[in-house]
Amino acid sequence: LIEARAVTLSFGETPALRGADLAVDAGEVLAVMGPSGSGKSTLLHCLAGILAPDGGEVHFDGRRIDRLGEQERSALRRDSFGFVFQFGQLVPELSAEENVALPLLLGGARRADALARARAWFPKLGLDGMERRRSGELSGGQAQRVALARGLVAEPRVLFADEPTGALDSLTGEHVMDLLVDSARSQGTTVVLVTHEARIAAYADRETIVRDGRATSLSGRAAR
Ligand code: ATP
Ligand code: MG
Repeated sequence: LIEARAVTLSFGETPALRGADLAVDAGEVLAVMGPSGSGKSTLLHCLAGILAPDGGEVHFDGRRIDRLGEQERSALRRDSFGFVFQFGQLVPELSAEENVALPLLLGGARRADALARARAWFPKLGLDGMERRRSGELSGGQAQRVALARGLVAEPRVLFADEPTGALDSLTGEHVMDLLVDSARSQGTTVVLVTHEARIAAYADRETIVRDGRATSLSGRAAR
């Protein structure tokens, strides 16, 4: 479904990606692991059309997406992708339920419908009663779960999740992973998940390790 070939990207003098190759099948849950600063977030941003790479190619669903203009990339993100950022990144002016509803509203849903669908996520994530709070009134772990709901609410073809359990204690982290993987499988959503925890990567079908801006795939459960 997604294929990256020889993707390179530098931030000024810093090479973040030095030729990353990666393929993700439809319906697969792929874990991206590797040391801090190795290029995991940068790779995810390139796959999701948030950053345009300097070189190489990214293909999604048979279409080359790395050379699209900003407008086409944002349309692609809105229509096909969900993203959970490493540090949550909720909109502070909006309530939790408005944050979750955001992808639906951007997709043209009616406000009442979007909010109703957004609210349905709160009990599933152990967030009852948090619907009207602003992000500043949530704990780090609560904000992270709100960000997860926002990534899944529009039933994207692909969910990109950057350390979605990073701010959670291990029990909540496992609960969130159960939910993420169950929701993704029932919606047919493909998941690309960055994590540094082996316990979280164990939820994936397969693992890729990023080291010094290069990606190596390991065969996982599906291949074993
Ligand atoms: P972590 O596990 O700590 O989140 P990561 O593997 O996600 O690390 P990246 O965030 O992709 O790593 O960063 C890869 C390299 O690119 C690092 O050397 C980092 O300092 C650099 N980098 C990332 N984003 C920027 C930026 N916006 N401007 C300049 N350098 C950046
Ligand atoms: Mg990162």
